[in-house]
Amino acid sequence: MKVGVLALQGDVREHLSALQDCGVEALSVRRASEIEQVDALVIPGGESTTIAHLAQTFDVFDLITSRIKSGLPVYGSCAGMILLADRVLDATADQRTFGGMDITVRRNAFGRQVDSFEIDIAMAGITSHAMRAVFIRAPWVEQIGPDVEVLAAVTREGVSHPVAVRQGRLLATSFHPELTQDNRIHQYFVQEVCKGV
Ligand code: GLN
Repeated sequence: MKVGVLALQGDVREHLSALQDCGVEALSVRRASEIEQVDALVIPGGESTTIAHLAQTFDVFDLITSRIKSGLPVYGSCAGMILLADRVLDATADQRTFGGMDITVRRNAFGRQVDSFEIDIAMAGITSHAMRAVFIRAPWVEQIGPDVEVLAAVTREGVSHPVAVRQGRLLATSFHPELTQDNRIHQYFVQEVCKGV
């Protein structure tokens, strides 16, 4: 199985090495011909507006959107989660997403004072041991459709906010597992979300 990491902007290298550690062929992809060849895709953390603009510049925006629609397994971390969301709150006026996940996300949801933080979180159905999760100007999920499964959540002021969600072949986390040495999310993506590919 060939897993592409969308290499327009963001922490591409870290995802490539996490995927290689999981034993799959991982390659950075940017051009249409490269994106057409992969069996699965990872959209890294970075800046969702920049990644979306560059996808239009490289003329791959519609290709990615349509591959997602036809069932390509995709994992998005942080900015990648925003790009997979059908709806975005606190978006810039012209912000576009690839979409595919029936979720509403709020950008930079944890507020300015706490730009970044790390906590241990439980990941339902993925692992019995808590994971160290790194959040950097992270979004959270405010609303989910009926087909979306919540895998992890963070509570703020008494309200639980999903930070890891799955809908069929699409997986998204608000945090950055690629920045830790813990590959359980990538492994889950490769083994479970991509099963049968
Ligand atoms: N705040 C960024 C955005 O809106 C995401 C941050 C990240 O990927 N670490 O795209």
